Amino acid sequence: MFVTRFAPSPTGYLHRGHAFSALTAFEAACVAPGRFLLRIEDTDRTRCRPEFEAGIFEDLAWLGIRWEQPVRRQSEHMADYEAALDRLQAMGVLYRCFRTRSELEFLAAPHGPMEAYRGGPLPADEEARRLAAGDAYALRLSLDEAAHRLGGFEDLAFEVEGIGQVRARPEVGGDVVLARKDVRVAYHLAAVVDDALQGVTHVIRGEDLAEAAHVQRLLQALLDLPTPVYRHHRLILGADGRRLAKRDQSETLRSLREAGLTPARLREELGLG
Ligand code: GLU
Repeated sequence: MFVTRFAPSPTGYLHRGHAFSALTAFEAACVAPGRFLLRIEDTDRTRCRPEFEAGIFEDLAWLGIRWEQPVRRQSEHMADYEAALDRLQAMGVLYRCFRTRSELEFLAAPHGPMEAYRGGPLPADEEARRLAAGDAYALRLSLDEAAHRLGGFEDLAFEVEGIGQVRARPEVGGDVVLARKDVRVAYHLAAVVDDALQGVTHVIRGEDLAEAAHVQRLLQALLDLPTPVYRHHRLILGADGRRLAKRDQSETLRSLREAGLTPARLREELGLG
């Protein structure tokens, strides 16, 4: 059975890009036919707000999208992520990272994105000193240890619709954070665990997340989870040709709706006919 999902984070109101993503996934489920799930990715407690979650339900209903109940809210399932972390910890593929955001930005500045960080663990004595001092740490996935465990990444592949089998290059993400300093989970881990628990067969999302599939494929291999098929759709750009961001208030679906936009007109604008 075809199962897909839309997985927004309630850190702002949805914009036209979210509408495109949600409609693309919903319509794929209608055509298959299959199931369409809505998942609320709300583990970042400092940025998520209940009014944004309510806004997601309101906007999706306005678009004519229907989803199954109950909705999975990630903040209610921390034990599932903790269990996955414990397994990875027991495999020896995680390490503590005490670096602050500003240190990471400084390190990344001349070399590229902060996410490709591969700092490795601290020397044991320094780590013991930081732990004794009560310093907060994130948990990162060690690509070196993961490669060691799996005998390299050569056999890791996944299917991308419209392209075929793609070899996974988890190196694109670096040693990703799997548990943040403030909350013991982070995006990639929660997404992979949930896609498996919810039986998602097709992950449909924007091409801005194409690299995420490479990282997530590695986590699936380590945790013995099935690999869904991935579909990366084009991104919806603003009038200035730039990607839409949640902070552009004028572009939110609720303000466009208040200004008189109809779902039918929006679909036309999005090229969904
Ligand atoms: N919560 C993520 C976002 O809003 C979803 C990513 C995904 O679909 O895996 O970008």
